[in-house]
Amino acid sequence: MSKVKKKVIKIDLEKCNGCRACEVICSAFHAKPQYSSNNPARSRIRIVRDPLRDIYLPVYAGEYTKAECSGKDKYVIEGKEYSECDFCRASCPSRDLFKEPDSGLPLKCDMCEDDPEQKEPMCVQWCLSDCLTYEEIEEEAEEKIKLEDVEIGLESLVDKYGFQKVMDAAARMTKKD
Ligand code: SF4
Ligand code: SF4
Ligand code: SF4
Repeated sequence: MSKVKKKVIKIDLEKCNGCRACEVICSAFHAKPQYSSNNPARSRIRIVRDPLRDIYLPVYAGEYTKAECSGKDKYVIEGKEYSECDFCRASCPSRDLFKEPDSGLPLKCDMCEDDPEQKEPMCVQWCLSDCLTYEEIEEEAEEKIKLEDVEIGLESLVDKYGFQKVMDAAARMTKKD
């Protein structure tokens, strides 16, 4: 087992005032060219806002999903009612969140790992009310062979022995199993 570094953004709901600075900077940072435009619809963090009910809920874009799910549970937290979808990070056909407005392609938070590398994600830097805080934690992880290593290894074998010989050797090994 080895340790891997994980990037975590903590959200303190009590501190979000719905200012949407995080949406503005995220969309500007990821604009092409960088900072050429800002449009919260292109942001990878969105604020579920309902000022009448004093609801301001930051949600980060996660995985793409082809179909919406059937579960529509409701959550009541400190007297405020949220739907299951409010907390969901998916780019899902049931709503417009986390989709690039022109192409419809799914958006996903990349923790601002684009160039230039940031000490802290941009949304954290721009959240002046400290609702968002950044942490790096270490977790145990199983050793994994990186795909790049396999590819590099295969390429060097093919260079040395030729494609056909490598394929023949692989076929023989498969038969042994
Ligand atoms: S937004 Fe999330 S919770 Fe809501 S239907 Fe889609 S996948 Fe399900
Ligand atoms: S971490 Fe970066 S990519 Fe993710 S939502 Fe914040 S600003 Fe956008
Ligand atoms: S910048 Fe911070 S306070 Fe403003 S909407 Fe985003 S998370 Fe909430």
